[in-house]
Amino acid sequence: MGHAPQATTPVGSRTVSATATATAPLPPFTPEHDAFRAEVREFVLTELRPRAAEWEAAGWFDHEAFEKLAARGWLGIKFPVEYGGLGGDYVMDAAFVEELANCGSGGTAAGLGAHVSIAMPPIWKFGTEPQKQRWLVPGIRGEKIGALGITEPGAGSDVASIRTNAQRVDGGYLVNGAKTFITNGVRADFVVTAVKTGEQGGHQGLSFLVIEKGMEGYSVAKKLEKLGWRASDTAELAFEDVFVPAENLLGEEDRGFYLIMANFQWERLLMAHGAIGSMRLMLGQAVELVGERTGFRQAARHAVAEIALKLAASESLTYHALRIFGAGGDAIREVTMAKLVSQRNAYEVAESILQLLPGGAGEWDERRLAEIDRAARDTRLGPIGGGTDEIMREILGKQLGL
Ligand SMILES: Cc1cc2nc3c(=O)[nH]c(=O)nc-3n(C[C@H](O)[C@H](O)[C@H](O)COP(=O)(O)OP(=O)(O)OC[C@H]3O[C@@H](n4cnc5c(N)ncnc54)[C@H](O)[C@@H]3O)c2cc1C
Repeated sequence: MGHAPQATTPVGSRTVSATATATAPLPPFTPEHDAFRAEVREFVLTELRPRAAEWEAAGWFDHEAFEKLAARGWLGIKFPVEYGGLGGDYVMDAAFVEELANCGSGGTAAGLGAHVSIAMPPIWKFGTEPQKQRWLVPGIRGEKIGALGITEPGAGSDVASIRTNAQRVDGGYLVNGAKTFITNGVRADFVVTAVKTGEQGGHQGLSFLVIEKGMEGYSVAKKLEKLGWRASDTAELAFEDVFVPAENLLGEEDRGFYLIMANFQWERLLMAHGAIGSMRLMLGQAVELVGERTGFRQAARHAVAEIALKLAASESLTYHALRIFGAGGDAIREVTMAKLVSQRNAYEVAESILQLLPGGAGEWDERRLAEIDRAARDTRLGPIGGGTDEIMREILGKQLGL
């Protein structure tokens, strides 16, 4: 029988029950997952959260965060033991992502997550043995940091319209083009990059090339300023006649579109788990706010009740999707629903907390206000990243046979 996750949120002086499901058995989490979750929470609260404001202001989180996670094996939770991973399951990974949200910095969680959950998986799934030794093994150790480069100035939702071109030359490819909005783009040692290899591009003509720091003609064109996720380095990348050797091709040439799609379900499901973690944190904050209010208490209580409802609804759909996905089933419909509802709910929860703040809130301690401010900005990315709400609805419509 499964157990409820550690469903309390230690915010400020109070620890509150932060989920409607706190007393119910909640498969697929086991006592081992719960123990792991508690360990991650302790680490996140003591090692990451105290640095959140500083990293936000700097627009950059310390590399030390990767090192500390690597020292515990947490950059390789689901990767095989022979590559230095923990050989864990998807549920363990999901628990980790929920707890990481307690760092209170969407940018930090995003940078760590981009390396672990979107840059390394294609190498693990489709890389040759030498490629795994070259990028996955040092990636799990935190010695090389990865990014995933798909989005371009003219190709976001429509992945098939990627134009960055890789022309076949003797011994490899010559790459020309640009990528934008790439998380870890400034610091990345390697970028798993989607390029057009076939004449027609699209479904039959895209490939993945691993492009590495120091390759001639590859540069970080710009570090982007953003509304949220400020602690993460998001970059525009430029490729001018970059020679990429053939051994850096990941998977089969011209089959890249399918490689790109392969990890999307897990990326979206993890985003849902991240949103659940954020909502638990925010529910704890909202409960504190109600406790401290002198007037208007009933309305504040109702606002908190709505937050608990949004969290519980998101948990239900997300854990349902996780059960199907974790068992190897086709979870496209459930993952799409979980992503849609959780990202929207997290944003609305953050917005409702802003609304709850009393006029005298300016006198509160700066750390708490900064966390509320960050959450409101960070959660705005949810309905955009990993597939926008509109694209999710389109997929859902097709899943419903429409
Ligand atoms: C902070 C941040 C970090 C990111 N990190 C990465 C990363 O690490 N790697 C990476 O590759 N990408 C990354 N992205 C890019 C992200 O995946 C894209 O922003 C997203 O896929 C949307 O693409 P777009 O921004 O080009 O918008 P568009 O695709 O141009 O969409 C603009 C609007 O039009 C709507 N729209 C588009 N097509 C349709 C349609 N067919 N029907 C209805 N509506 C439609 C969209 O829903 C949206 O509202 C990141 C983005 C941000 C903001």
